[in-house]
This record gives sequence, structure tokens and C-alpha cells, in this order.
Amino acid sequence: ALTSEQLKRLIETLANTVIAETERLTALDQAIGDGDHGLNMKRGFEAVLADLDGLSRKPLPDAVKAIGTHLVMKVGGASGPLYGSLFLTLGKELPAEPGLAEFATAFDAAFAAVKARGKSDVGQKTMLDVLGPVRDALAAASPDPLLGDRIKRVATEAAEATVNMKAIRGRASFLGERSIGHMDPGACSSALMISAVIDCLE
Ligand code: ADP
Ligand code: MG
Ligand code: MG
Repeated sequence: ALTSEQLKRLIETLANTVIAETERLTALDQAIGDGDHGLNMKRGFEAVLADLDGLSRKPLPDAVKAIGTHLVMKVGGASGPLYGSLFLTLGKELPAEPGLAEFATAFDAAFAAVKARGKSDVGQKTMLDVLGPVRDALAAASPDPLLGDRIKRVATEAAEATVNMKAIRGRASFLGERSIGHMDPGACSSALMISAVIDCLE
């Protein structure tokens, strides 16, 4: 089980990682969207940081749900409700002390919630193109010392793979073929968050 100190460090690392990448996320969204993804995510995770003590005193599922609520209230745009759904559902489905199997099951439900909220699916150049492959890798995983590295590689490569995709959902879809050649901002932020959590758990 995570101690509240460990939970605090996990949430803090997650938030600081996203905030540190504000400019990169902004640049990606300037290329194929409206240029606000970095600031949207920064605003959300600053609210998370402001509540760090409160969050880390909660049991894990409640803390994850409360992060979802902060993101729904503060991120805005398309990504706020989507990341909100991800964290709210993850928190709802996680037991207090999840093992790998429980985490994989909860992540599957969270992925499904994002798809339902976005009326979207993998293959459309969105955050789902990272969340989906990570969901699949977790579902197929058995505990081994290299699992974290493997999931990080899956997430990073999945984000890279959105470069050559054509956007079919979100603002980038307005660009049609011109969306090809740039990484999707939400795919990038998803990969960043997944890597940050794994680094912190290892
Ligand atoms: P907005 O597009 O409203 O400015 P953001 O810039 O914060 O919102 O977030 C854009 C990201 O949200 C995209 O890069 C994409 O990954 C994700 N996204 C947008 N629409 C959808 C959708 N329908 N389903 C899944 N993800 C989506
Ligand atoms: Mg945007
Ligand atoms: Mg916007």
C-alpha cells in the first residue's frame, strides 16, 4: 500500500511533470489546435498542487477521484472533461490497495469512460491513441520488474505514432490532412502523465 507520504510525492510529481511541459504542450496545440492545451493542463494541475495536503490524506481511490474533480473544474476545453472522466472513473474503480490486475481493470473502465465522453475511439489522433495501447499493455501484463519500462515505452511510442495520423476528433480534425505531421497534444500529455506515475512508483 502507498503511504500518504508516497501518495503525496506521486501526486506532486505528476502535477509538476505536466506543469514543466506547459510550453511543449502549448507548441503542439499551436500547430494543430488553438494553442491552449499547455495552459489548460497547467491550470488544472496547479489546482491539484494547491490541494496536495488534502489529497494525500485521502485513501487512494478518493484522492484519484478528487484529482478528477479538480481537472473537470479547472482544465476546461475538450481535454478537461475527458481527463476528468479518466481520473473520476479510475478512482471509482480502484480498490484501496490495488495490485496490477485491479489497476488494469480500473484503467480499462477509465479508458472506456473517456471514449464514451469523447464519442471517440483509437485511430482518431487523440489522447485515446495513447490510453488505448496502455490499456491493452496493462490488460496483458504480468508483474515483472521491467513492466514499468515496457509501459513507458508503449506510451511514448504511441504518442509518437500520432504524428503520422490524421485527426478525426477534436479541433485538429478541422485541419484534415494538414493535421498530419504533428504529435497530438493530448496524446503527448497522456504519455507524460503515465511516465511520471511509473517513474514515481519505481
Ligand atoms: P481544446 O481542443 O478544447 O482547446 P485542449 O487543447 O485542452 O482542448 O485539448 C485538446 C486535446 O483533447 C486533443 O489533442 C485530443 O487529444 C483531445 N481530444 C479532443 N477531443 C477529443 C475527443 N472527442 N476524444 C478524445 N480526445 C479528444
Ligand atoms: Mg486547445
Ligand atoms: Mg481551447
